[in-house]
Amino acid sequence: APGDRIIVDGTHGDVIIRPVPATLARYEAEKERQESQRKALIVAEHDGPGVTLDGHEVPTFANVELLAETGHSIRAHCQGVGLYRTEYLFMNRPMLPSEEEQFESYRKVVEAMAPLPVTIRTLDVGGDKIVPSLFQEKEANPQLGWRSIRLCLDRPDIFKAQLRALFRASVYGTMQIMFPMISGLDQLREAKTVVDQVREDLSARDVDFDPDMKVGSMIEVPGAVGSANALASECDFLSVGSNDLIQYCLAVDRVNKRTAHLYEPAHPGLLHMLKQTVDAAKQAEIPVSICGEMAGDPLLTELLIGLGFDSLSMSAVSLPRVRAEIANTRMSTAKRFAKKALSIGSASEIRKLLKQRAESRGTMKLYNHGRTPDLVS
Ligand code: PEP
Ligand code: MG
Repeated sequence: APGDRIIVDGTHGDVIIRPVPATLARYEAEKERQESQRKALIVAEHDGPGVTLDGHEVPTFANVELLAETGHSIRAHCQGVGLYRTEYLFMNRPMLPSEEEQFESYRKVVEAMAPLPVTIRTLDVGGDKIVPSLFQEKEANPQLGWRSIRLCLDRPDIFKAQLRALFRASVYGTMQIMFPMISGLDQLREAKTVVDQVREDLSARDVDFDPDMKVGSMIEVPGAVGSANALASECDFLSVGSNDLIQYCLAVDRVNKRTAHLYEPAHPGLLHMLKQTVDAAKQAEIPVSICGEMAGDPLLTELLIGLGFDSLSMSAVSLPRVRAEIANTRMSTAKRFAKKALSIGSASEIRKLLKQRAESRGTMKLYNHGRTPDLVS
């Protein structure tokens, strides 16, 4: 009810309505403890990219949804923005944003971060991200429906306006763009053809843009994993969207509470998909990143490094903990650990291995309550 006090415990997935004074006091103390720990981690960390104990750089990037999140605090603790979700500019409003409004918004983001790079994702609406002016018909399976790059390819007017705004903003800093929900090579080629048309159009009109702006593909559909070699050979970088990849790999709706317990990042099927994606990128000699929630979970840091991800992109709040994990990781050990995890066929056994490993590495000390944290909070 209005005025009720509510505690949201994101680590354990608890919501406590009207807490009794003892619970409130416990959570206030915990909040303070986490805040001072976060500050201590920030003070303790070195500038520059995260570096493992044996000297390998693992740059960390921030996932950003709003312009207000960029700027000093992020700049100080990461190497740039690894995922800028542009859909928030399109949501909660009756009309779509104009090219001009988008240009201003993208320009401000790249300017705020310059010279650090910003990876901007093209429009990813649909599924659970509804834009009222675009979605008049209710779909039976919105997560499998008209969303993301599919929508953009069907609506070149919307897609081109966004691409024009992005290219125009590209000269104000270091920008690269990536397409969400790509399912295979034909779709990537189709999207890149639209990019070429926009480039030609801007050149013909003498509009300034970065002609070398890198274009990448997200990997968040199993079909894209199976096509990872082909995709890697025709784009500049890959970035795994593990939130969606888990959803589609395990056929578990990511926003359905009843199936939430089946949403399992430690599933062997998923880990092998991650490995296949990384291998494809290495073979094509392009960088590969991961920008889903998995990247911000310190229990998974050593595993992701061992699998071969070049960089990790996460919510800003996770950066200090994950950077502390990177600094406490040895590349050679991480590779052995990833190999071991890949040899296990059961998700619960992989999860057990991760928890044991976290105990021995001291990762668990980052949490309180004496409860075992979930792999993804
Ligand atoms: C993902 O799917 O992992 C991702 C980063 O994209 P989003 O969570 O915005 O769908
Ligand atoms: Mg996604």
